[in-house]
Amino acid sequence: YYPNIDQERRILAQLGPDVEIVDCTQIIPGGAKTCEQLLPFVGDADALMTQFAGVDAQVIAAMRQCKVIAHYAVGVDLIDIEAATRKNIKVANVPDYCLDEVSNSAIALMLDALRKITVARDLLLKGEFNMDAIQPIKRVSDTTLCLIGFGNIARNVYAKAKAFFARVVVYDPYFNGQADYPEITFLTLEEALSQADVVSIHVPLTKSTKGLLGRAQFAQMKDGAVLVNTARGALIDEDAMLEALDSGKLGYAGLDVLADDEYEHTAFLRHPHVCLTPHIAWNSDGSREELQRKTAENVVSALLT
Ligand code: NAD
Repeated sequence: YYPNIDQERRILAQLGPDVEIVDCTQIIPGGAKTCEQLLPFVGDADALMTQFAGVDAQVIAAMRQCKVIAHYAVGVDLIDIEAATRKNIKVANVPDYCLDEVSNSAIALMLDALRKITVARDLLLKGEFNMDAIQPIKRVSDTTLCLIGFGNIARNVYAKAKAFFARVVVYDPYFNGQADYPEITFLTLEEALSQADVVSIHVPLTKSTKGLLGRAQFAQMKDGAVLVNTARGALIDEDAMLEALDSGKLGYAGLDVLADDEYEHTAFLRHPHVCLTPHIAWNSDGSREELQRKTAENVVSALLT
């Protein structure tokens, strides 16, 4: 799955001649995906490197000597950080490996929705060859974008979005660099939602951000607004989103993530007002190389310092 395994091995070799790498991907096809699948591997491990498999309290309890859990990821919502911290185990992520990729995907989903590209393709596939079938289309340069969260990815989105949108408003109660962005209007969530034609969410999934967008927030949005989610599915109440899409309150959703990241049976897969991608916003050859390199470096620095 990872093309840069030799580079990763070379970095991990800095740990010394006795380093033993137990590669779950050789044992479990596609690699471990669940906490339970990790259990047989973690007892004697000094470090655990994981991308898809969560590390819950049960896995952490089974670790006898682990010093670092290195996550091939930006968001660390799959790791029980509190349980790790109680056992003095460091948790490492890679916060900057795919800023360009995710911001490009977010912009692509916004433009796809506004320019009705997937909608038009779907109508053509249904035999609808009349170009007026997809009217009306709003001029992108007349629209307002709302960014929820203004961290690394959202600031990258902003740098690109400036070229397309009339105005950008931001909701991020923890961001304190407003002085660097005098042209941006920082608002409450309700104000930002009510002014936006496009809403793009870029916050981490935590206990307090789970379901950040629910029925009340959809009601505050403009009729026919576009929602883009390249962060985490569980940030949005999916039942409320489906209702909003079905009623037309939400005009379109561009989704790279779902709460359970299961794409086969979800109602969003074939919804006429949804463009769904399977958690690929992070992905490129360059980002994979950077992710693997930096995850291995995180292990080396945690074990050698
Ligand atoms: P970041 O930590 O740099 O920024 C997060 C921002 O959210 C911060 O500015 C923080 O103040 C803000 N925030 C936190 N709680 C908030 C709240 N309740 N309301 C509003 N703002 C809030 O993170 P980032 O690098 O921008 O990444 C954001 C998320 O994107 C990650 O946590 C991850 O889950 C997701 N992600 C997805 C992919 C993908 O492939 N789809 C790839 C990378 C990251």
